[in-house]
Amino acid sequence: MEVLTVKTLRRCQFIDITNEISELVAKQSNAKAVLLYVPHTTAAITINENADPTVTQDILNHLEKMIPSGSHFRHSEGNSDAHVKSSLIGASILVPIEAGSLSLGTWQGIYFAEFDGPRTRKLYVQFL
Ligand code: ZN
Repeated sequence: MEVLTVKTLRRCQFIDITNEISELVAKQSNAKAVLLYVPHTTAAITINENADPTVTQDILNHLEKMIPSGSHFRHSEGNSDAHVKSSLIGASILVPIEAGSLSLGTWQGIYFAEFDGPRTRKLYVQFL
């Protein structure tokens, strides 16, 4: 398993990691899929459109409207909104590999989703 470091710059942010993952995939001759796993409770990973950057801005804005940060949560650390957002987006994705490349759709990109940054995060990359 490989462990990538992802440095986030804002409290909530989607970071396009498609190229970094594609470079790792290109070095794997026998892998049929790659599992990407976020070992954190206030960050996540997802696939969505990477052609128009307003899509990820809309996702972040809508998550903030649905789950605003604030003091209306019981968890005393003050970041419950980040825990909820992380669970909604999810901690892992599995992407098929075909002929040494990620089998992504034309408009798809892989995003690391930060909800309680800025932080230095880990991403586990397991080839299957
Ligand atoms: Zn917490």
